[in-house]
Amino acid sequence: MGTMSKPLTASTAAKTGTSKGPSPAVMGTYGRQNIVFAKGEGAWLETEAGERYLDFGSGIAVNALGHAHPRLVAALTEQAGKLWHTSNLYRVAGQEKLAERLVAATFADKVFFCNSGAEACEGAIKAARRFHYVAGRPERTRIVTCTGAFHGRTLATLAAAGNPKYLEGFGPEAPGFDHVPYGDLDALRAAVGPETAAVMVEPVQGEGGVQVGSSDYLKGLRALCDEAGILLVLDEVQTGVGRSGKLFSHEWAGITPDIMAVAKGIGGGFPLGAVLATEAAAAGLTPGTHGSTFGGNPLATAVGEAVLDVVLEPGFLEGVQQKALRLRQGLARLKDQFPDLVVEVRGQGLLAGIKIDAAPADVVAAALGERLLVVGAGDSVVRIIPPLIVADHEISEGIERLSRALAHVSKSKT
Ligand SMILES: *Cc1c(COP(=O)(O)O)cnc(C)c1O
Repeated sequence: MGTMSKPLTASTAAKTGTSKGPSPAVMGTYGRQNIVFAKGEGAWLETEAGERYLDFGSGIAVNALGHAHPRLVAALTEQAGKLWHTSNLYRVAGQEKLAERLVAATFADKVFFCNSGAEACEGAIKAARRFHYVAGRPERTRIVTCTGAFHGRTLATLAAAGNPKYLEGFGPEAPGFDHVPYGDLDALRAAVGPETAAVMVEPVQGEGGVQVGSSDYLKGLRALCDEAGILLVLDEVQTGVGRSGKLFSHEWAGITPDIMAVAKGIGGGFPLGAVLATEAAAAGLTPGTHGSTFGGNPLATAVGEAVLDVVLEPGFLEGVQQKALRLRQGLARLKDQFPDLVVEVRGQGLLAGIKIDAAPADVVAAALGERLLVVGAGDSVVRIIPPLIVADHEISEGIERLSRALAHVSKSKT
């Protein structure tokens, strides 16, 4: 490898141009909108030119407390001046504190920290298999998952979700996953056998199009897993940390999982993921069986704790529920306004979706034209995922902008 940097010739300058479009130096794995944000505050993002966008995508449910939340900025900058990273070879004070906070607030007894949702799901899968292995049931390795699911982009989590579009061209599919339709308990029961280790499900399928699992479904899953002696793994990477109006979505159904994958909102924008488990379900992950270099480092866990501080403040989650109701009513009005375009409004908390009779990308583009950020999803759904700190007047503003965007799409449709 040469150490000399390339001279900036006319041709390399053109190749790195930012005004014309995305730099070719970045791998083209995303079909990106041609827009660059320079800063953000609360529910708003601003370009270098000072154009303000209302962010109802929250970086795909990541910026739970919006942009530049003062409490998160303070936690991060304070920690940045003290200590960034020491390795998991040593105790990490912030990690222990955040783990204890999560244990106190949830079903879990144990927490493993990682850096992303896919890693959290991988960790959950590994924990489930090892649970049976150390209990003398090494044959129990298979995980039942749902079609339409999304668990991340690593090889195992792609196989877990089983979406052919994402698996194509990536070689042999990681074995050990059985897929059943989401919401179908009978199919699930039929898929569970002597080699099944666990069932892994999202309480609300986010990427799959904001498909909300009913309370009966989740209760049924819990009962089925108990009967079969297998573990219930919930992927709350998108639904967790207040997004649903509860700290975690499964609380709505009054059940608890054995293992849960968490990421996205827990870091408020700082990369942080976690595997939460009961003492029993975590029994297989003994020293040396799993690890992460960066997982739960002082920076990430300082921010994670600040996020929890805010989300667990008395009244915060009730506030999310009230905002969710307001958003839901606004979306219902849009359905009345555009009956031919908006087929259905669905969601839980501030994870809302409208199923539309058009390409979601057209609505996303039209909304961008109205300086509103929303996110596409499967099943012809446009996701509306404002930060949890969104104000009532911002919800009204967002609905107005979305209304104009839908009018635009509606007009070009006819
Ligand atoms: C986003 C997401 C993931 C993957 O998270 P990454 O941080 O992108 O790896 C996994 N599961 C669900 C439910 C998600 O929404």
